[in-house]
Amino acid sequence: IYFGTISGVVSFHPDDFTDSEAYQAAINIVKFEKYRNDDQQITDHTVELLDQQRIVLEPNDRFFRLSIRMADYFNSENTQYQYKVKGLFEDFQTISANVIELGRLPYGRYQLIVRGQGANRQYSEEELVLPLVVKRPLYLQWWFLALVSALFIFGAVQFYYWRIKRLKEREQRLKLLVAARTAQIQKDKNTIEEQAIQLKELDELKSKFFANISHELRTPLTLILAPLSNLLKTNAFSNKQHTQLLLMQQNGQKLLKRINELLDISRIDANKLEVQNQPVFLYPFLKTLLSTFESSANLKNIQLQFDYQLDEEIQLSLDEDKLEKIVMNYLSNALKFTSKNGTISLSVKKEQQKLQLSVTDTGIGIPEKDLPKIFDRFYQVDNSPQGTGIGLSLSKELAKVMQGRVWVTSIMNTGSTFHLELPFVETFAVKKAEEKEAIVAPIIEQQANTTQPHQKTILVAEDNPDLRAFLKLILEAKYNVVAVENGKVALELLENPSLSEAAMSHSFSAIISDIMMPEMDGIELLTRLKASDDLRHLPVILLTARKSLNVKIDALRIGVDDYLTKPFKSEELLARVNNLIQNVEQRIAQLPNKATNRPKAVSIADTNWLKEVEGIILENVENGDFTLNQLAETLHITARTLQTKIKHITGKTPKQYQRDLQMHVARQKIKSGTVQTIAELGYQLGFDNPYYFAKLYKQYYGVTPKEDMQT
Ligand code: ADP
Repeated sequence: IYFGTISGVVSFHPDDFTDSEAYQAAINIVKFEKYRNDDQQITDHTVELLDQQRIVLEPNDRFFRLSIRMADYFNSENTQYQYKVKGLFEDFQTISANVIELGRLPYGRYQLIVRGQGANRQYSEEELVLPLVVKRPLYLQWWFLALVSALFIFGAVQFYYWRIKRLKEREQRLKLLVAARTAQIQKDKNTIEEQAIQLKELDELKSKFFANISHELRTPLTLILAPLSNLLKTNAFSNKQHTQLLLMQQNGQKLLKRINELLDISRIDANKLEVQNQPVFLYPFLKTLLSTFESSANLKNIQLQFDYQLDEEIQLSLDEDKLEKIVMNYLSNALKFTSKNGTISLSVKKEQQKLQLSVTDTGIGIPEKDLPKIFDRFYQVDNSPQGTGIGLSLSKELAKVMQGRVWVTSIMNTGSTFHLELPFVETFAVKKAEEKEAIVAPIIEQQANTTQPHQKTILVAEDNPDLRAFLKLILEAKYNVVAVENGKVALELLENPSLSEAAMSHSFSAIISDIMMPEMDGIELLTRLKASDDLRHLPVILLTARKSLNVKIDALRIGVDDYLTKPFKSEELLARVNNLIQNVEQRIAQLPNKATNRPKAVSIADTNWLKEVEGIILENVENGDFTLNQLAETLHITARTLQTKIKHITGKTPKQYQRDLQMHVARQKIKSGTVQTIAELGYQLGFDNPYYFAKLYKQYYGVTPKEDMQT
């Protein structure tokens, strides 16, 4: 194509201008507006946009409106625009006008890209690219969130530490409090423990005091009662005097009963009270008990009834002594609290496999408030006339020891019923009712025979002048007696007999010594005697105050020494002295030269051998078939050697020696309180005849086994 111009020709070839050439037209920003939530209206921000070249949508901006125009002068009317928000959607959106309106965009950074279409339907390569920032609201901004989180974490940490601190403080406070309280509790505990110990000590002291006082009272009382009973036996008094003596005896016995109650209580406290069951014919036993109240009942015109609902022949295994104490207490209370013309009845029956005893009276009754406490120690109803308040509590304890129980029912001004329930154990053992009578006779005869001149002298060492006088009184019936006040004087006399006028013409045959004495006590005296060659052979009887005191006298084995528990009966003392002196005489009889009148000391070898013999006999003491031949066999010697050797050491035949040991075991068993019946004990020790056993026992110890059991 050629064009002529004033300056020449202009020519070009149309092929030089192809469609393939890129279309270039810029897009300009015409207007930029925002709608803000605050103002509720559209505001112009064009200048801001032109200046910053980016769209920033604040959290408060609801939408924006962008007007554009392409710089294409040929086709400005028909230009079509497209836009996309890179990062949000990638396809171009076509818009009909030249205005883009966008709002509610998610927070983030995008690019708004706008392009326009030229006349040749081509999109201009020059696109309008505007960074588009949609800001988060303050509370969603990272820094804000970070700050808030940091603050929160900081706060939480602070709170945590504060809380820990508080808890620690509290714990500390509590610890201090607990420590303080613990210290207080410990202190209180210590105080209570100390007080408990003190109380216990006090209680023990009290019990000991009771026991000691009772023992102390018992000795002089025995010294009153024993001569009294001797006096009463003599029949040398007028009726009036006899009655007075009887009155003295009755009251003395009453006193002894009270003292024994106190002793029982202290034994209960020390857990030393044991049951000693034996066969009891219930009917005669209770009938006799009841009859002892007849005269007092008659005086008050009170009717005594016996309502016995069992077989009259029945025999029960019971602790007679304890049962007697309970029933006596019930009956004497009933009598005390029932006025004239009343009725007291003792009823006996079997119910629910138990023995049920009750004493019902028509007396004053017991107030309801006192009923639960009536069996407490020392408890008495307010207006009680006299008494100690011990009887019922003792009854309760005794019943407990016997596996039974006591209780009371009472109506004021109508009467009371005291109950006792015990295990019902029927027994068929034959009880020797005559035992007592059978063996008392020979001793009384023995005692009566006192007119012969005395051959032997006894040395008595006793600090209590009354008891000394009493011992002298009893012993003088059969012996010469020299009585001194303690072991020291006794020993001086023994070592130098010429000091005593009474002993001038006699040497001593036996010594009776109390254990507790001033200057030199009985044990020391015994030790000194046994250490002396000249005095070792003298038999000694030690007097002990307590049953429980277990005096170990070695020479018991050889039948040389013995002990006696206070209070004792005169018969008992005489029998013991007699036995011991006989034993010594038997030994003296063995001596080749009897003139010395003194058995030689037993050698250690002999004592040991005797110990062995004793061991074997004791092992077989309950074996009735054990013969002396067997004993010799066990010892690997002949029966003859056995005979000679035992006789040589003890002065007795083996049979006699065995008997001594049997009696010794019998006594130990009786004293230990494990014996139920005398017959049983006799059988146990190989005696077929319990009468013979009891008789022998009485000969040895001056009291029947039964009496020994009761003291
Ligand atoms: P004591 O009779 O020595 O005071 P007890 O222990 O035997 O001691 O009795 C305690 C108390 O029980 C008595 O003091 C009395 O008040 C009351 N008591 C016992 N038996 C009877 C009874 N049969 N009737 C009314 N009261 C009784």
